[in-house]
Amino acid sequence: MKSNPRVETLSSKLFAEALKLIPGGVNSPVRAFRSVERTPLFIQRGKGSRLYDVDGNSYIDYVCTWGPSILGHAHPAIRKAVSKQLKNGLSFGAPHSLEIQMAAEIIKLYPSIGKIRMCNSGTEATMSCIRLARGFTQRDLIVKFEGCYHGHVDSLLVKAGSGALTFGQPDSAGVPADLAKLTLTLPFNDADAVKEILACHRNKIAAIIIEPIPANAGLYLPKPGYLELLRKITSEHGILLIFDEVMTGFRVAPGGAQELYGIKPDLTALGKIMGGGLPAGAFGGCSEIMDCLAPSGPVYQAGTLSGNPLALAAGLANIRQLLSSHGTNAYRLLEVRGKELQKGFKAAAKKHKIPIQFQRIGSMFCAYFIDQAVSNLADAKKSDIPRFVRFFKGMLERGVYLAPSQFEAGFISTAHSEKDIETTLRAAADSLASLKG
Ligand SMILES: *Cc1c(COP(=O)(O)O)cnc(C)c1O
Repeated sequence: MKSNPRVETLSSKLFAEALKLIPGGVNSPVRAFRSVERTPLFIQRGKGSRLYDVDGNSYIDYVCTWGPSILGHAHPAIRKAVSKQLKNGLSFGAPHSLEIQMAAEIIKLYPSIGKIRMCNSGTEATMSCIRLARGFTQRDLIVKFEGCYHGHVDSLLVKAGSGALTFGQPDSAGVPADLAKLTLTLPFNDADAVKEILACHRNKIAAIIIEPIPANAGLYLPKPGYLELLRKITSEHGILLIFDEVMTGFRVAPGGAQELYGIKPDLTALGKIMGGGLPAGAFGGCSEIMDCLAPSGPVYQAGTLSGNPLALAAGLANIRQLLSSHGTNAYRLLEVRGKELQKGFKAAAKKHKIPIQFQRIGSMFCAYFIDQAVSNLADAKKSDIPRFVRFFKGMLERGVYLAPSQFEAGFISTAHSEKDIETTLRAAADSLASLKG
């Protein structure tokens, strides 16, 4: 059941075909496996903690659809909810009651949210937060952080200029330099950098957008007091604080990172888990800000498929199952599995004398090949990438599907059993042993 990239597989044949028809062969870049120097697997099906490829191999999956599959693949509760909705139709382009149910569910879990608007992806959610923040504050500048990913929004595909106080530069072709100039990019976890930028531009900044727990450059945590500082100074200067909880929402706690750290942002972007594996996103905040959206207010935002009944049925089932009496233990269970994985990983790395920094919060984790704590992008970049690539390949050969990049987080689902973790740790020990020399 081992996959050997040198052997002609059905996956590699399909990829060759896809390359002719789809740019890079994929519909989202990281799926192409380029940073791990091989071609991707084509997946036939997923069930519980496992993915099955078209060549008949099975893998313990730690990508979990990049977050949404927190109950594992094809969970019966989600399949049931989707089947039920399917009988009533796929989309109406008109109001329906699942929208109210989803809004109520989110508002109950996120005290910072008084009203919520649904959309189709995390990107749409952050993009709309930016427009709304600009419309509400009547200011143009946005502050973001290096290593934080907020989807492929023009204003947010921006990297830092040459100095902390200079304006941003496009981080993708096709983003106008004039637009990128409106985004200022700072290092994460650096309180002084934030104070400095506010000293210069405070009356022009509409919003600070942040992943409260950055999980798109591996995984690192905010330093104690950092998010509190952001909350304090944004409030003082009439700047909106936007928490991008597309990844962390319902993942690190039912109420996301804001529940964990006890901080109320002005706007929150959600996605991933709230769609249960179907395309969905949402953004919300207090009524005063949210009522600036059309048709109540002057900020335009819309979507043909927004609040799609099938996606909301899947998302509601995902969230309700997570929170059900069986599910209250879901977060405890995820923590237990996370701990097992962390403990075993560290022990194996120590035994084989491979420097590893295993960072984790609940069911999100990242193993950097480095011997120091990682607290921002600059730290993360010091990881030994060639070593990661060899490790990744070793794990894949042994039936463990990790994110195909050092700069992505791993995810555990409630479907991952103790046995899955044991199997993973055996694979990790063997893969780490083979890295020596
Ligand atoms: C995935 C992600 C997004 C983008 O969501 P899409 O649904 O891929 O558009 C935005 N922000 C964060 C933090 C994410 O992890």
